[in-house]
Amino acid sequence: MSCIEHKTTPSPGNGEAGRDYNPFDVMEPRAPQKTPQDRKNGKHVKANDIPPQGVYLPNNNILAPHMKSPEYVQLSTAAAITLGIMGGRMYGCECTRCLNLLLTYPEGCRANCAYCGLARHREADRDYADRNFIRVDWPAVPMAEIVDIVARDPDSSPFHRMCISMITHPRSEQDTFTVLEQWTNRIDPGAIPVSILSNPTTMTRDDVQRTKDLGADIFTVALDAATPELFDRTRGKGVQSPHKWSKYWDIMLEARDIFGPQKFGAHIIVGMGETEYEVLNLVQQLVDLGGHSHMFCFFPEQGSLMDHLPATPRDQWRRVQLARYLIDYRDVRVEKMRFDELGRVTEYGIPATELSDIIDAGIAFRTSGCPGKFQDDISACDRPYGDSPPSDIASYPFPPKKKDLKRIRKQLDIPVMLE
Ligand code: SF4
Repeated sequence: MSCIEHKTTPSPGNGEAGRDYNPFDVMEPRAPQKTPQDRKNGKHVKANDIPPQGVYLPNNNILAPHMKSPEYVQLSTAAAITLGIMGGRMYGCECTRCLNLLLTYPEGCRANCAYCGLARHREADRDYADRNFIRVDWPAVPMAEIVDIVARDPDSSPFHRMCISMITHPRSEQDTFTVLEQWTNRIDPGAIPVSILSNPTTMTRDDVQRTKDLGADIFTVALDAATPELFDRTRGKGVQSPHKWSKYWDIMLEARDIFGPQKFGAHIIVGMGETEYEVLNLVQQLVDLGGHSHMFCFFPEQGSLMDHLPATPRDQWRRVQLARYLIDYRDVRVEKMRFDELGRVTEYGIPATELSDIIDAGIAFRTSGCPGKFQDDISACDRPYGDSPPSDIASYPFPPKKKDLKRIRKQLDIPVMLE
C-alpha cells in the first residue's frame, strides 16, 4: 500500500515577509498621478499623425505612428513569433496555440486598472502602442496581413484558437465586430474558433448577441478581481477607473444566456488580496452557472500602479491552481475542501492517491483558458510567461516535466508518494 505524507497546515512561504499568500492589507495599489494635458488621449500621436508602415514593433524611443483598429490590431509577442512576423524563441515551447489580438488606438484604454500595463495613467510616459501588457510587448500589425497569413491554410495552422481582447474605448464594440467579421469571412470558425475577451463596461446584450451572430464561439469577461471590494479598489473608484462589478456580472449572465453552457467564463487574477477561500468560492459559482474560470497569477507589471507589490507566492498560487482544476474539471465541490483560519486550502476534498495522480498528470498547472484541439482541460491560450518569468514559472505553457512536478510538489507542500 502506498501513502503520502500530507500536512494540514500550509508551511511558511516565499512571499513578502515569509508569508505564503498575499494579504489584502499589503496589496494596496498606488494612487494614479495627474496626466499632463499634452499627453492626454494620445494627443501628440494624433497631432504628429505619422502614417504607419506595415508592422510596428514597440519602441519607447520613437513617437508611435497613428494606428487604430479595425485596420490595425496588436498581437502578443508569442503570436507574432508563431505567425512569423517577428524573430525569436520561447523557453520550452515552439509556438503559442492562441492568436491573441488586442484592439489599438492612440488614446488607448480609457480605464485605469491598477495591475494592468495598458492603463490610462501610463499615457503620461508611454505611447499606447509601446506599453507592455502581461509582461510582454505587443507589436501592431495590419489586421488584413494577419488574416492573409492564417487564411492560406487554416487547417494546418499552429493556432487552435483566436481571441479578440476588447479594451475600454468608445469604438471598442464596433471594431470588435469588424475584426471578427474580417476573420470569419475568410477563415472557417470550425477550423480556428474565436473567443471574445470582453469589456462589459460599454456593452449591451445586443452587443453580446452580435458577437455570437458573427461567429464567436466563447465569450469571456475579464472580471480579474475576485471580490467586489477588490474589484472597486483595483478597477473602479479606487483608481479613478469606470468599471463596476455589477455590470461585469450582468454581461456575463447575458453571455451565459446567449452562448450557453461551457461557452462563457471569467478571467480571475489570483493573489491581489483575496483569500483562497474567496477565489475558490467564485470558481464554484462559475461552475454552478455552467461556465469556466481562467486563472492568472498576479505579477507586478512594470509601470502599473501595483508594480511595487509582491508577485503571488507560488505556494498560494499552486494551491488555488490545483483546487480550481478539481472544481472546474473533476467535479470536486468547494464545500468538500477544507480551509484554515486565513482561508488557505488545507484539504482538497479527494483521496490522497487520486490527488497525487492529478498532480503528476500536470495539467492542473498549465495555463488555463479557452480550450484548444487537444482536450477540454488543455487551454489553447497558453500565454507563454504572461504571469511569471521562465525562471519561476506560474502557469506552464508546456506540459510540466518531472523536474517541474518535483518543484510543484514542494510548493504545494505535498511530497512524492512513499512506497
Ligand atoms: S480595461 Fe482591461 S485593458 Fe483597460 S486598463 Fe483595465 S485591464 Fe487593462
